[in-house]
Amino acid sequence: MSFDAILGQPTAVATLRRAIERGQAHHAYRFEGPEGVGKAACALAFAQALVCHDPVNKGCGRCRGCELTRTISEEAPHVPLHPDVVFVGRGIYPPNLIGRTTPEATGISVQQIRRLILARSGFSPHEGRALCFIIHDAHELTISAANALLKTLEEPPPKTHFVLLTSQPGQLIDTIRSRTLAVRFAPLADALVQQIAGVPAEIARLAQGSVSAALELADAETHQRRQAFVDRALEAIDAPDLATAIGFANQKAEGRDELKRQLEYLAHALSAQAIAQLDHSPGLSERQARQHQTVLKALAGVEHNAQPALLLEAMIAELRSA
Ligand SMILES: [Zn+2]
Repeated sequence: MSFDAILGQPTAVATLRRAIERGQAHHAYRFEGPEGVGKAACALAFAQALVCHDPVNKGCGRCRGCELTRTISEEAPHVPLHPDVVFVGRGIYPPNLIGRTTPEATGISVQQIRRLILARSGFSPHEGRALCFIIHDAHELTISAANALLKTLEEPPPKTHFVLLTSQPGQLIDTIRSRTLAVRFAPLADALVQQIAGVPAEIARLAQGSVSAALELADAETHQRRQAFVDRALEAIDAPDLATAIGFANQKAEGRDELKRQLEYLAHALSAQAIAQLDHSPGLSERQARQHQTVLKALAGVEHNAQPALLLEAMIAELRSA
């Protein structure tokens, strides 16, 4: 994965490329941006450029360093074959490999930081060029893991680099943020999502600039389930009696994350309808726009609401009176 293969992130790529070319790669970057926009791929391209054997065309794609970096082991843990490109992330490694007896349920454990980073960073890179740690979903670092990392993050040994990937930078503790240099990744253009994920335009539009979201949406079953939710919601809004609305609110819950996705579908359906009606029926369009706002409000409430059924009931009542 060379920088050339990273699409739609010209600013981030230019920043990193320039740093590499000048031999001024920072020792600790923080890649911030939504899921599925190329942060991990870019981190790998950066690591590849660091360990590449070609002194001029760094990240040449042909040398042994490049090859080992972009080859991800087929067996678990799925990490680069290059010994100096080290993945860190919750659940990547089996517990026994990082000195634990239980899986990392809540976050990246302090044991993983000790075993993978601290035990390793005092030594020169195996291949001599650079040692690069890529920390996936760095906001999942537990407090003890983050604290264990601070000193090394601030003053790593020579030729040692860190890339912290996060879609939720606000959840990183301040001391980690202040020791890392931010590189921002934007949502991708719909056309690019469509191209990379190989999905229809309709799905790319729903994915909000994320390739991983598009792939998930493209899953036919998921799409059908969410569309059925939208159909039932629209039915409940227009039903003459309240029974349909209550039935809708009491449907089988499928978990908070799925409920969020379903509400996003509904919000999108309403906004698409509002736009479609704008010319023919401004009154209806206005109502649908208000309904769209109501769904967005419910969506924001999902995180803090213990009772999805109550949330849905209140939402449908508001949608009916909108
Ligand atoms: Zn190379």
